[in-house]
Amino acid sequence: MGEEKNNVLAGVQEHIKKVCDSLGMEPAVYEILKEPLRFYEVTFPVKMDDGTIRMVKGYRSQHNDALGPAKGGVRFHPGVYADEVKALSAWMTIKCAIANLPYGGGKGGVVIDTRELSEGELERVSRGYIRAIAPYIGPLVDIPAPDMGTNPKVMGWMVDEYCKQVGYHAPGVITGKPIIVGGSLGRGPATGRGIMLTFKRFAQAEGFDPKGMRVAIQGFGNVGRSAALHLHELGCKVVAISDISGTVYNSKGLDVPALAKYAEKNPDNLKDAPGEHEVSADTRYALEVDADAIFPCALENQITEENAPRIKAKYVIEGANGPTTTAADQILQERGIKVVPDVLANTGGVTVSYFEWVQNLQNYYWTEEEINEKLEINMNKAFDDLYAMHKKHNVDMRTAAYMVAIDKLARAMKARGWF
Ligand code: NAD
Repeated sequence: MGEEKNNVLAGVQEHIKKVCDSLGMEPAVYEILKEPLRFYEVTFPVKMDDGTIRMVKGYRSQHNDALGPAKGGVRFHPGVYADEVKALSAWMTIKCAIANLPYGGGKGGVVIDTRELSEGELERVSRGYIRAIAPYIGPLVDIPAPDMGTNPKVMGWMVDEYCKQVGYHAPGVITGKPIIVGGSLGRGPATGRGIMLTFKRFAQAEGFDPKGMRVAIQGFGNVGRSAALHLHELGCKVVAISDISGTVYNSKGLDVPALAKYAEKNPDNLKDAPGEHEVSADTRYALEVDADAIFPCALENQITEENAPRIKAKYVIEGANGPTTTAADQILQERGIKVVPDVLANTGGVTVSYFEWVQNLQNYYWTEEEINEKLEINMNKAFDDLYAMHKKHNVDMRTAAYMVAIDKLARAMKARGWF
């Protein structure tokens, strides 16, 4: 387990090193980017419902802030560990640079299984974590957000606790908040909308029409559901959707709005959804179905050495973080399957988080139309920069993404006199 844990950070470091070398960067660039600039480990007491005190461990990593304050979610999970949080924060540095956001990368984690907690205990863990890291975060320092195991409700408690600690109203310290306490319109569906916008721009660049294309999606939660609805609206034919319960498929196209409505009330149980479709117990079937493009939007390591040879689609658009293993990536490349990487395709969420922060700082709020319009402009610019790099250097789009990001970070660090 220890070795596996170390590999996550080693994997990101290896990728950054490879790209630094291929760009002919000065050694200092890799030296600065290989570890977070700041990493905090905290332990805080939480009063449980039975009156006992439990000591809970948490982390916050600020990987790099050359382009702006650190930004990244907080994960509540029993398996969270230091190197994972460091690696995820490095990933955020890359993502924010690609998306042209004035942010560096951050990430937080709390070692806790939320399923074991009552609502009151969850609130006390959320507040305890923020009290412990309050000296190190702030609207112009480091801005947390939701990630696995946390949600807008948790963000509501966290922002309240931070405001109590500092003694003034500071909604810009956290994004992904409920709308009533400064959350942004359009944040919920933003990641899925961004995936659709990326696919639309990609189709334009590659010269194909997305309308009528057969697409399949793995994952039908926040990201997958929104991606499916937006792709359906774009005119794609959604032929298969998988979730943790199995897969529904229909070669003539699924009734996506009806399935989405069902899944809102019945999460993680697609296999029992009513409708004219066939059902498979295979949770990865959407990745292998006869489709033109597949969208892994569930979790990491879903396209592996084992199933990559069976993928029939020409395009893979990564909605989830890290859905393709390195070995599978190589197989897809050899098979001529193009991958639009996660660090570009799923940045719609952090982009609207950035819009939320801007609205909080200026205390002036935009309409959903304005947000969607700005999101499209941002996503298109990010795509165009990456695609130009992909063509110019004749490299795969994932490598191109890291090249765009590291080039930008190196220029910022140089301009600041860091090397
Ligand atoms: P979620 O918990 O809302 O949904 C996850 C979905 O995946 C569910 O439909 C679940 O049934 C399905 N799933 C879980 N395990 C599965 C399995 N073994 N096989 C098939 N399906 C499985 O999560 P989400 O917020 O939609 O996030 C999905 C992915 O997108 C994650 O990798 C996350 O890190 C990434 N992401 C999320 C956001 C965001 O804004 N929520 C932004 C960027 C990236």
